[in-house]
This record gives sequence, C-alpha cells and structure tokens, in this order.
Amino acid sequence: MAAHDVPLYDLAVIGGGINGTGIARDAAGRGLSVLLIEKDDLASHTSSCSTKLIHGGLRYLEYYKFGLVAEALAEREVLLRAAPHIISPLQFVLPHEPHLRPAWMIRAGLFLYDHLGGHRTLPASFGVGLRGTRWGAGLQEKFTRGFVYSDARVDDARLVVLNALGAKEGGADIRTRTRLVEARREGGLWHIELADRSGGSAQVRCRGLVNATGPWVKQVRDAASRAPGRENVRHIKGSHIVVPRVHAEEHAYILQNSDQRIVFIIPYQNAFSLIGTTDISLEDFEKPVISREEIDYLCDIANSYLAGPIGRGDVVWSYCGVRPLYDDGADNPSAITRDYVLKLDPGERGEAPMLSLFGGKLTTYRRVAETVLAELKPFFPQMKREWTAGAPLPGGDMSGGGLAACERDLAARYPGLPGELRTALLHRHGTRVSHVLGEAKSAAELGTHFGRTLYAAEVDYLVAVEWARSAEDVLWRRTKCGLHLSAEQRDSVAAYLHEQYGQEDS
Ligand SMILES: Cc1cc2nc3c(=O)[nH]c(=O)nc-3n(C[C@H](O)[C@H](O)[C@H](O)COP(=O)(O)OP(=O)(O)OC[C@H]3O[C@@H](n4cnc5c(N)ncnc54)[C@H](O)[C@@H]3O)c2cc1C
Repeated sequence: MAAHDVPLYDLAVIGGGINGTGIARDAAGRGLSVLLIEKDDLASHTSSCSTKLIHGGLRYLEYYKFGLVAEALAEREVLLRAAPHIISPLQFVLPHEPHLRPAWMIRAGLFLYDHLGGHRTLPASFGVGLRGTRWGAGLQEKFTRGFVYSDARVDDARLVVLNALGAKEGGADIRTRTRLVEARREGGLWHIELADRSGGSAQVRCRGLVNATGPWVKQVRDAASRAPGRENVRHIKGSHIVVPRVHAEEHAYILQNSDQRIVFIIPYQNAFSLIGTTDISLEDFEKPVISREEIDYLCDIANSYLAGPIGRGDVVWSYCGVRPLYDDGADNPSAITRDYVLKLDPGERGEAPMLSLFGGKLTTYRRVAETVLAELKPFFPQMKREWTAGAPLPGGDMSGGGLAACERDLAARYPGLPGELRTALLHRHGTRVSHVLGEAKSAAELGTHFGRTLYAAEVDYLVAVEWARSAEDVLWRRTKCGLHLSAEQRDSVAAYLHEQYGQEDS
C-alpha cells in the first residue's frame, strides 16, 4: 500500500480501559481525529476489576497525599453530575476501634475529607452509635460507635463503555479486539501495525501516540522507543469476592485491619455484598487469579466485624485486577503512590510524540485526559479548549429532577414493562433507555428473555452500539446480569450471539 493510502489520524490511543477511552473522548471533542485500539474487549482488564468507587481515598490522607485526595474529591462532584445513572452517592460506616486509630485522628481525617476538593453536594461526615441502630446492621454487638462519611460508587465497566461511546460520537474510530503489534517513527509520523482477532492486519499512521495500556505501559513504551525508559511499573494484584448480601441497609462498611490495610463491604447489585480488596505484588501479571489465601483473608477480616460469619462456600463470584502503579520505590504495596505520572517522549525534531501514562485511578480519569491533552497541545496547536467538565456522558443528560424524574418518566412511557426491568435499564443506559426499548409496549416485544432483566433487544443494542461480541462482554461488563442468571441462562446468551452474529465466545 502506498504511504499516502494508509489512513492518517492525529492521535492513536492504545488501550481501551478508562484512561484510553477518556483520553479518546476528550481529544475527539477537541476536534482531533482519533483512533482508539484495544486488544481485547473494552474494560476487560483493570478497569472492570476495581472496588467501583469514585472516591477521594480516605486512606491516602495517612500518606499525606492531600493533592491527590483533593483532586479526586473535586472529580467526584464532576462525575456525579456527568453520569448519575451509573454513579451514585454512597455512605460509608467506619466502626471505631480505638486500638487501631484513635477517634481524634479519624475526626481530623474526616474533617479534611469533608473540606478538601472545594464545593460538595454529598452530606458531611458525622459520628453515630452502632449497637441497635441501622448504622450497625449486620455487625457484632461489640462495635458500639462509628463514623459515617460520603463517597460514590460507579459501574466501572460501563464508565469505560460510555466514554468510548462519547468518543465515537465525537468522531473517533474505535477498534476492539485489535492489538498494536508495532509502532515506529518515520518521516515525522508514527507508522503502526495492527492485528485483529480474525487474523487480519492493518496499517495506520498518526501524528501522536498515547500509550494508555495500564499494566502493559512499560512493554508498549519500550517496544516503540529507541531506548528502554527508566520508569517502571509495579503490578499490584487486588481481588474482590461477592457474597449474598450481609445486611439490608444501603450503606457500606470500611473496615480497618490490624495490618493497617482497609477492606470495604459494599452493597452490590441488590442481592449481594462486594468485599475487597487485597494488595499483592506480582511478577507475572497477564492472567491474575484470586488465590484461596486471598479469599480467606477477605473472609477473615469481614468475620472480625460481621455478626453472621462468611466463608469460601458463600462466594458467588470473584474477580481480580492488576493495579499498574508508578514505581516510586515504596516497599509496602499499599503505600505505593496511586497518583498518575505522564512521560512524554517527544521524538526527534519534536515530531511524533508518544505520551505514556503510569498509574491513576478511575476517579481521576477525566483529569488525566485533560492533563494528557495539555501536554500534547504544542504538537496540535489547533486543538480546542477543555470541554468535558460540564458535559454529560451518554445517557447522563438528565434535567433538574435527575434520576428519580427519569424513572417516573420511564414508568409513564413504558407502563407495560416490569418495574425491575425499567430500573435496571435506567441504571445501565440512563436517558438512552428508549434506544434499547424502542416502541415496545410489553416485555414480550423485547425478544428472547434470557433471565431477570436481560432480553434480546438489549443484547442486540449492545452488539450494534457498544462493541459487545461475546457472552462475557454482555453478562459481566455491559451488564452484570451474569450474577443474576443461572449457568444455563448464561449459555443461552452465548448461543444467541453465535446464532445471530456468528460470534465466538472469546
Ligand atoms: C483491585 C483494584 C481496585 C481499584 N479500585 C478503584 C476504585 O475503587 N476507584 C478508583 O478510582 N480506582 C480504583 N482502582 C484503579 C483503577 O481501576 C485503575 O487505575 C484503572 O482502571 C486503570 O485503567 P487503565 O485504562 O489505565 O488500564 P486498563 O483498564 O488495564 O486498560 C489498559 C488496556 O490496554 C490494553 N492493551 C494493552 N496492550 C495493548 C496493545 N498492545 N494493543 C492494544 N491494547 C492494549 C489492555 O487490553 C487493557 O484493556 C482499582 C484498581 C484495582 C486493581
């Protein structure tokens, strides 16, 4: 193919996790032509394996990370406005244990947490009695006092998909199941080789490259650079377990362990509780799995607080992710910085830059995108101004009444559909529920019913609009229906995808 026939983009973003999709959306909205490539499914690695919190990170105050906490708290407000369907406020109860952290220290920390980050809409922290009150639901009687503070939870995988959707709507070309094989500089441009799952290959050129490959950041950077970079990434495994709901109240618990680590117990998907996480250094990070020791560790911590003990047999689902942390030399995995670090490789004569992202959190992805584009601005002087702070994510454009008004509106428009289905779809698609439902008057018009809130109409939408290909994409990332369906019902989703679209379950 002659060089001038090879497609040319301003920016190629490698990595379809939260950071890559966030950067692609921001860049596309500023008028750059953008290609995003992801070797697997969107959010199939770290970005779907988090604790699912949009939070300042109370515990980072102990490491004096005030800047990081303030930035994350400010972002929490921005994101609550941008995607109220997938991000919602959540209150946390911290049972007080004087031998671990004295009350004055916790009060001081919570005071800071309430005031860092500027304007906030969430309730401030306060002290509570736990024994016999709803705040102590499910806890052992010995816990009598505690503190309540506010943060937010998020559907992490959907946050990624919505950013990809926003990028696409801004004009970006999104290619999943497509791997960057080689990138080299030539004539002031990047020349990139791509390979897809079906054995196909493609070449593209771009003016700038963003390496947002999370755990793979160093590998990709070193492969594309003339010399290996000095920066390193630490791969820290974190696992979660899901068990039947341990209490009926709406709040989460933040538990302190004697090893100074904290573990969360979070109400999850109505019927369940999510418990995590661990911090374990890994050498081989490609396919992390949760170990029996991790399951026992999480159960043991939960059991030192809960009135009704849990064990391995209660675990209905678990997942495991790898934090790609910037190596700041800390020995203790919990103490390594959670902040992000950008490394710019400007190329010879200042052409064809490559920007690599180390670390970061879901919570700060939008700020990461702004910082990345500020760094790239000299290479793209035509780039428009920052715009994402006030812009809703797809489906998040709710007027004054917010989610509650949207739900009422949905009930009025689709009275023939089960309430559980309407609510579930609202929390997946926000104001775009009608894109899934069309004119359907009853559930029967939504095609095959796979179980609970999953119908063929939504599966078709996820394939057509949200890059879903396999049953796993549908059941565990675009939705969490996997948790609510039997093995047989899950298999029927795979069979449907195969019959309708010829998709392999990979
Ligand atoms: C256990 C755990 C709990 C966490 N909890 C929270 C939390 O509650 N709140 C919070 O804010 N943050 C949390 N985080 C942090 C957050 O999840 C991560 O910082 C974030 O998801 C990283 O996103 P990413 O896009 O950088 O990486 P990833 O999501 O891993 O995305 C990188 C992508 O690059 C792709 N890729 C790699 N190489 C190539 C290639 N050659 N070609 C094409 N694609 C490629 C990969 O397939 C991958 O999908 C947590 C992390 C973990 C592990």
